[in-house]
Amino acid sequence: MESVAQEKGTLSIHTENIFPIIKKFLYSDHEIFLRELVSNAVDATQKLKQLTSYGEFNGELGELKVSVKLDKEAKTITVSDRGIGMTADEIKKYINQIAFSGAAEFVEQYKDKEGGKENIIGHFGLGFYSAYMVASKVEIVTLSYKEGAEAVRWECDGSTEFEIGPAERSERGTDVILHIAPDSEEFLSEFRLREILEKYGKFLPVEIEFEDKIINNPNPIWTKNPADLKDEDYLEFYKELYPYSEDPLFWIHLNVDYPFNLTGVLYFPKLKNDFQVQKEKIKLYSRQVFITDEVKDIVPDFLQLLHGVIDSPDIPLNVSRSYLQADSNVKKINGYITRKVADKLSEIFKNDREGFEKKFDDIGLFVKYGIISDDKFYEKAKDFCLVKNIDGKHFTFEEYREAVKDNQTDKNGNQIWLYTNDPKKQDAFVESAKKRSYDVLLLDTVIDPHFIGVLEQKLEKVNVKRVDADTVDKLIEKDITLESVLSEEQKEKAKVLFEGIMESKAASVQVEAMPTDELPVVITFPEFMRRMTDMQAISGQASMFGNMPMMYTVSVNANHPLTEKILATEDEAQQKELAKQAYDLALLSQGMLSGKALTTFIQRTVEVL
Ligand code: ADP
Repeated sequence: MESVAQEKGTLSIHTENIFPIIKKFLYSDHEIFLRELVSNAVDATQKLKQLTSYGEFNGELGELKVSVKLDKEAKTITVSDRGIGMTADEIKKYINQIAFSGAAEFVEQYKDKEGGKENIIGHFGLGFYSAYMVASKVEIVTLSYKEGAEAVRWECDGSTEFEIGPAERSERGTDVILHIAPDSEEFLSEFRLREILEKYGKFLPVEIEFEDKIINNPNPIWTKNPADLKDEDYLEFYKELYPYSEDPLFWIHLNVDYPFNLTGVLYFPKLKNDFQVQKEKIKLYSRQVFITDEVKDIVPDFLQLLHGVIDSPDIPLNVSRSYLQADSNVKKINGYITRKVADKLSEIFKNDREGFEKKFDDIGLFVKYGIISDDKFYEKAKDFCLVKNIDGKHFTFEEYREAVKDNQTDKNGNQIWLYTNDPKKQDAFVESAKKRSYDVLLLDTVIDPHFIGVLEQKLEKVNVKRVDADTVDKLIEKDITLESVLSEEQKEKAKVLFEGIMESKAASVQVEAMPTDELPVVITFPEFMRRMTDMQAISGQASMFGNMPMMYTVSVNANHPLTEKILATEDEAQQKELAKQAYDLALLSQGMLSGKALTTFIQRTVEVL
């Protein structure tokens, strides 16, 4: 091998404009320089291991760790490895010719050999040159693994001029020395460097040493065979990712290599009844290098509530958002994850129905969210999604259809599924429904108003109504009609009377025959209007009608003895007083009586007593 001559040169013309671009625009996050250099060091180490396994390197491997050193006085950061190193020619080729990726060539050369492609991180493009985001000068001191190779020093101050020549170095491997620029001295801090290393390098496949400590776990569980792992391993790893979180409910180990390469572990956290602000996010890795926890475009929306890790070398990284969305691999990955999650849920449902039901309070939110937002997911989830009634019994959609078929089919052949979103508040209505032996579902999560909409849309001949959407016999209209005790004329009188005492414009009055054990006056919220108001509240937007008051219906029970009594009262003032009392009772049972109206009601009641 020829010896290294001292040389000066000019970097190829592509570089003329590229340094300022690197510095300013390439990465908004300057800290990424460390990820890039450490990744290169890891790559060089992995390559050497591979060469050994192919029998192309027979020397001592020695201890193959990568180390990062900070010298505050000299204002340098040094990244060292004991990997393959570089000859002078390789430096000229790989380092001087920007955009000439040595990794690409290596992959090309070894792509057909087992493990060749997977183990190389270097596909980030301008990796090495990102050093100039923080350094005013970079030196490389390296010795190639090749027999008879001579040590080389290369340096470049960020202009297009570089220098290359012989160096003193007896150990195989590479030191990359960054002379930190005055505007980047924030990186001359142990704390900051450790933070960056832990963020990006926590699971790099080669040991990373910083300040005499190994900062990473080179064998995270997603790289292992699921058959070799126990529940404890998954739980432990979860703690490693999110030290302050409660244990997850269960998890899915992802592992595909065709048509794209993806591994990972996704955890189902306990979510409770609300979308919490999601602090713990899914982390995206590429060959064990942390890339981002913004996985918006890779993971379907509804699964972003999950936690864990996805590792895929097939997700394009340094490209624009819109490109990412259009990328066919990303689309496939999206579909794959959705399918895996649905399969896992279906498996638990089939193998452990009881356990599944227990977990449903926590995972119901995902499942419902998935059903709402993804048709493909719905197709699988419709068989295991559960609804729960107020007695705590769970049903699948089909089971529920079967259960209420006989008693809750109306005269038009539609099934009416009744629900409450607040059993305490709607107790009077729940009780009325129970008297008819109707079943009442509990649908009280934030997502349920949307979920109900989807149920009606997907399930044929099913209507869903809140228990207080109408008086009990109108909720599920059957052919039987109750006789009215009041004549048409009396009914009209009652209507006028009640309209007269009501102050609210948001209500309409109807007089109808109801069972005598119903209240004399019942206030209900027509399903359609109420749903619009609910949706508006969820979306936090004012509707195009502005902030309209909740519309309601006042139903006067034509068969209640009190109604008759009120109508028969001769004294007009007393009649009004009684009607008001009956109306206030209805308001009270809907929790709508407050303030001055409530005080007046209480006083009036006391007087009557
Ligand atoms: P990439 O890693 O995407 O190929 P880089 O600019 O980071 O691009 O590096 C260019 C090339 O320089 C690498 O492909 C590799 O061949 C070589 N290289 C960089 N760092 C090292 C190192 N620490 N040891 C050996 N070779 C290296």
